[in-house]
Amino acid sequence: MTENKTQVQSRQAFLVDTLQKLLGQDSPTGFTEKVVTVAEDIVRELGFAARRTNKGNLVVTVPGRETGRKVGLCAHVDTLGLMVRSITANGMLMVTKVGGPLLPTLDGEYCRIYTREGKVYTGTVLSLSPSAHVQDDAATRPRDEKNIAVRIDEKVHNKADVLALGIAAGDYICYDPKTTVTDSGFVKSRFLDDKASAACLLTLLWQMKQTGIRPRYDTYVTLTVHEEVGHGGSTLPVVDELLAVDMGCIGEDLSCTEYQVSICAKDNGGPYDYGMVSRLIKLAKEHSVDYAVDIYPHYGSDAGAAWRSGIDCRAALIGPGVHASHGMERTHLDGLYATLDLVALYLELA
Ligand SMILES: [Zn+2]
Repeated sequence: MTENKTQVQSRQAFLVDTLQKLLGQDSPTGFTEKVVTVAEDIVRELGFAARRTNKGNLVVTVPGRETGRKVGLCAHVDTLGLMVRSITANGMLMVTKVGGPLLPTLDGEYCRIYTREGKVYTGTVLSLSPSAHVQDDAATRPRDEKNIAVRIDEKVHNKADVLALGIAAGDYICYDPKTTVTDSGFVKSRFLDDKASAACLLTLLWQMKQTGIRPRYDTYVTLTVHEEVGHGGSTLPVVDELLAVDMGCIGEDLSCTEYQVSICAKDNGGPYDYGMVSRLIKLAKEHSVDYAVDIYPHYGSDAGAAWRSGIDCRAALIGPGVHASHGMERTHLDGLYATLDLVALYLELA
């Protein structure tokens, strides 16, 4: 991991550029075609073989230096989102959640509505009591599925006007990620969970191409597209070991920061593989990778989904510390590098 300054700079350029490309595509679960195409183009440009599964995952094959073990890495590129549930008499769109967005954080967010015919309209997510000068409960009305709606930026007065635009129940509503990279190295954006990790894995492929290094064992890197609804990891390639790379939690009772890679010992699905977790901790310690070990109180991962689907593999979970998850998230480039470095060490790149 000794690098000269130019390599560091170009690695950062690739990482940030890739992250912005992924974040620039609306991709709530079930609507991930575009983001997977962007990722596939990046992978092919780097010269790796990739295939799509029926369910929409992208699987990249990286030949190892030795045979004898198959290793899997995964990160998810599907995100949270909304879908049109119904249209009100005055032409607002009632919504249903895709995954688990923190709805109060969506109040005031700009969004795009995608119709089945391929039209795209813009709008704003608002409370149904949106006016401080009019409604008594403008500040206090709950921000939940019953009490928020999307105001479309078209001259609509009633339900028929909305239907005439081609908007219907089942259309996706994608809200703006508002991606910003600060001079101080912070990345502020929605959906860093888990596009930050996906960008790390793609940057690892870039590093392999730049340096000619290879993982010790044959490795399958999968970008999954149903994690936010719980079954993204259910159709992964059959491997001996699986390392899921997904956002690390930050908050009360947890020790991780945005500058670290989080190693999850246990989440809602139970403990991860003892030997793998111990090995990851040892690698981080020995190579001075800034890390934290935590227990996640409200969390499931693609590794858990893989286990539930019956894949007989050891599995662990790591990822960059992400603050305010499923809301206006933030991480730091330091956390992304720590993640990248730990995955590289895990793969025994040489
Ligand atoms: Zn995630």
